[in-house]
Amino acid sequence: MATKARVVGGVCGHGVDMLERAFLSVTLDPTPLLKFGRGGKPGFRTFALTADLMHLRWTSKNKNKSPKVSIKDMQEIRYGQRTDKFKKANRPDLQHLSFSIIYLDPLNNGSSDSVDLVCKDEHEFELWTRALSTLIEGKTDLTAYLLTIQKSMLQRQQQDGTGGATATGGGGGGGADGMYLTNGAAAGTTAGVGGKRKKTGRGGSAQIFKTHVEAKDVYSCGWGEWGQNGVGSTDLEVCSTPKLLEALLGKPVVQIAHGWSHTAVLLESGELLQYGNRIGTGLNEDYIIPTITPIHWPMAEKTSIVHLACGAFHTAALTERGQVLTWGCNVHGQLGHGDRRDQSTPKLIEAFRQKPAPLSSTSSSSSSSTNAAATPASPSSPTSSPSLTSSNSAPSTTSSSATSSSELFIVSIACGSSFTAAITDEGLLYTWGCGEHGVLGHNDTHDRLVPTQVQDLAGADITKVACGDCHMFAATSRELYAVGWNSCAQLGLGMEIDQLRPHVVEVLRGNEVKEIAAGATHSVALVYMSKLNSDVLYAFGSNQVGQCGAGKKARLSRPTPVQLPLTLPDRETRELKRVEIVEVRCGAFHTLIRTSNGEVLATGSNKHGQLGIPLRNARSPRNSSSKSSTTSSSASTSSSSTAAMIDEFRVIDFLKDKCARSLACGGENSSILTTRAWVEDSEATDCMSCKSPFTFVNRKHHCRNCGGIFCGSCSSKKIAILRMKLKEPVRVCNSCYTMLGGR
Ligand SMILES: [Zn+2]
Ligand SMILES: [Zn+2]
Repeated sequence: MATKARVVGGVCGHGVDMLERAFLSVTLDPTPLLKFGRGGKPGFRTFALTADLMHLRWTSKNKNKSPKVSIKDMQEIRYGQRTDKFKKANRPDLQHLSFSIIYLDPLNNGSSDSVDLVCKDEHEFELWTRALSTLIEGKTDLTAYLLTIQKSMLQRQQQDGTGGATATGGGGGGGADGMYLTNGAAAGTTAGVGGKRKKTGRGGSAQIFKTHVEAKDVYSCGWGEWGQNGVGSTDLEVCSTPKLLEALLGKPVVQIAHGWSHTAVLLESGELLQYGNRIGTGLNEDYIIPTITPIHWPMAEKTSIVHLACGAFHTAALTERGQVLTWGCNVHGQLGHGDRRDQSTPKLIEAFRQKPAPLSSTSSSSSSSTNAAATPASPSSPTSSPSLTSSNSAPSTTSSSATSSSELFIVSIACGSSFTAAITDEGLLYTWGCGEHGVLGHNDTHDRLVPTQVQDLAGADITKVACGDCHMFAATSRELYAVGWNSCAQLGLGMEIDQLRPHVVEVLRGNEVKEIAAGATHSVALVYMSKLNSDVLYAFGSNQVGQCGAGKKARLSRPTPVQLPLTLPDRETRELKRVEIVEVRCGAFHTLIRTSNGEVLATGSNKHGQLGIPLRNARSPRNSSSKSSTTSSSASTSSSSTAAMIDEFRVIDFLKDKCARSLACGGENSSILTTRAWVEDSEATDCMSCKSPFTFVNRKHHCRNCGGIFCGSCSSKKIAILRMKLKEPVRVCNSCYTMLGGR
């Protein structure tokens, strides 16, 4: 493969070409990739090249082992899925992001073997395959690259000394009183499922696709009275014009998850930020701007978070090692720690972990159970009595197989209002928390304080899970199962009786559900209909406030195809083009979808502006012209804010040209991650740093790094931005200047 122009003079800088970027990235930024094992089972492992570019290393489930393959043993990069392991995995949908490293295993008489990997997006795929194939071909002089890598490493070490955490997370937070929770429990956040790619399957891949390196700017709208919009104000009962989160400007945001009144944000660095109501964040006060939440890993556990999910008042995080951390409100045991105590900081769920019998042997008298896949391990102590405050914190789901090989590897998580669900790498579904309406799927309505396997789905090979307020969906590659609260027919089963056990949604039987999201009383699914050879968006449940996008119909008792405008102007050519839906999200009473060309369409309740469509336009039939939507939210606030709604999907004009990369819906608010973009002049009336208002004298200046708008004195410095191929110093804001290593 032809390499690009060679780098000259490695002084951290001249000519940051693609190859250099690739080498820097795959050596300095250990990357979670989805690795398929011998049986075709996927799991996250973190990969990196050693700094001498001699070996590829990755993490192992066994923490003491760090497998590696020498570059000199590598034979070729095989694109796509052409190895036995990939064939067993049967995931053709990930074809375009897959590659195999073919190598001769010196430990096995030089027989041929492969490392089979899936990247989270094309960008990552490009970096990895380019770096590896260059090394394997060995035609490139690496000296300059090696120098650059070393310099960058040194720089990073120096930087690590400074940028530490600030806020504390301790404190007595929590303190959720049951009353409040019960009142607020109409949340229905979906931190579901489903990737943004063509198809997702086994949750692991679904999750990893959430992250997107280019997703940078965050816009929020809707209810913000607890500060859950992160825009620095609690004065926002209504906010219908999406607002830029200035506090996240220039920060590499990977994912946002909304609860009812709190929000969690994952940065590329693995840092966790939170804001909003303290009950959900566990922080010691309510924060109105993103605030760092420290994670106290037990020694030797340090790993990175790959996905977040928020319930109404709790938060869950999935790590690349397949562990789950939870924190926040725990009135119903939704944290899975075997008790009902709130957690102020992220805590690992012990029940999923291997427990090498620490003190006396509690139950581990070598009841060496058979395979976890075959034997459902749960019924040993489902803590069925809600009053039971389970004495021990290392309870029971796994106790029947408490040998060291029995650690459960979680690949996907989702939170309902007051419950939590997780899928293992073997396709088993576990649920815990509030059992109201039978939502946990255990054929009763009891709370579960520890993760408990859903027996009915034991053999089903679950790949996706999505949780609404009090209903839940689990999907296999061909079936959708529904369970829980059903008084508005939100399970799509054609009737309105709560279901205590998972039931197949008949209308969709035999078809692959690509995206599924659940609100409080409605549900939306993107399904590949094999008969039609195309994707169809189905909605079902209550359409009272238009949340199904089904016009005047009050309710859809079965999944019903939704009409929506999918012929949209191309971003560059402006030609009308048919676009695809790639992401579906539900708030409690609203729905957002994202299209392949980065537009966002919205329908449902706009009471708090959660659709990002100015309220005064909310009921008018057609889109108004795009720029008129920049009217300030204060204007909208004055209009009667009750009952604002839209009952068919409509493009959010404000986000045109911003290219959405990912969506998040809270109870009654929304956030949109957009591609790193230039903030429009019209969006800023005062400096994004010192807040001094812009005037004829105090003029606006863009920071070339983050795209934000600042006054002259907050953006007086200049620096070269090599990442953007800007070799001459350009104007940046003060915080970007520091971040870029200026002094
Ligand atoms: Zn300023
Ligand atoms: Zn900046």
